Amino acid sequence: MRFFTSLLLNIVFIVNSIQWGPIGHSSIGNIAQQLLTEKANYQVSNLLSYKYNGSMSNAANWADEIRTLPEFKWSAPLHFINTPDWKCDYIRERDCYDETEGPTFCVDDAIQNYTKRLIKYNDIDSLKFLIHFVGDIHQPLHCGFIGDRGGNDITGHFFNKRTNLHSIWDSGIIERRLYEDFKNSSILWQEYILNNIIYKDMNNWNKCINCSSLWGEESIVNACEYSYLNVDKTKIKNDFKLSENYYNNVINIVEIQIGKAALRLSNLLNYIFS
Ligand SMILES: [Zn+2]
Repeated sequence: MRFFTSLLLNIVFIVNSIQWGPIGHSSIGNIAQQLLTEKANYQVSNLLSYKYNGSMSNAANWADEIRTLPEFKWSAPLHFINTPDWKCDYIRERDCYDETEGPTFCVDDAIQNYTKRLIKYNDIDSLKFLIHFVGDIHQPLHCGFIGDRGGNDITGHFFNKRTNLHSIWDSGIIERRLYEDFKNSSILWQEYILNNIIYKDMNNWNKCINCSSLWGEESIVNACEYSYLNVDKTKIKNDFKLSENYYNNVINIVEIQIGKAALRLSNLLNYIFS
């Protein structure tokens, strides 16, 4: 049975492997781990030693891999925030809500909850959820509109490949960047983000250690200004055809969001394990 479960997890992982899909999350995990204090890294590595070889990168996609399993179905609404269409703001009392689970079920609240739980119980699941959810909240369309489920229901083509808008922001843009400029190496890309984005701008992002509401607000503003708009500022609709122009307009936003997520995750863990 255990073998079957792990086989199933492997299959889920392979199917999802094109999907801040695996590369986004694992990159955030790896960059964040490099920014941990020695003390925090010791404790994080210890918690992740048995199953993940001590690596935050290896553990970063666990929350996506298990979310469809019956025993973890409850966790699915914790990966995002739904905001009203074209309001372009996030109000916790209004938006952090799930139809079946009720209030305080969204990625913002999940970050608050697992921060408290990790401090109290020092458990691996809280750590793995936190690594993943700090990534999710920085993907603009994880704080997108309720009417199109964060772009999942807007379908079309990205560089001639059939996809949906959400998926472009989870993985399509990142894959394109790696293919075009980094020889498909996520490690080279992570070095670029660390040296050219995080070290350059970190003082602006460092101001608040545990401000997930603010991070959600930043994301929906980015979604409204970039994710949902063509370069000519018209709204992206079904049957879209997006390629170079759109990609060139948003790649910087994607990389800034990855940089912010990595830095803020490391700050949070440094605080938790201080
Ligand atoms: Zn997720």
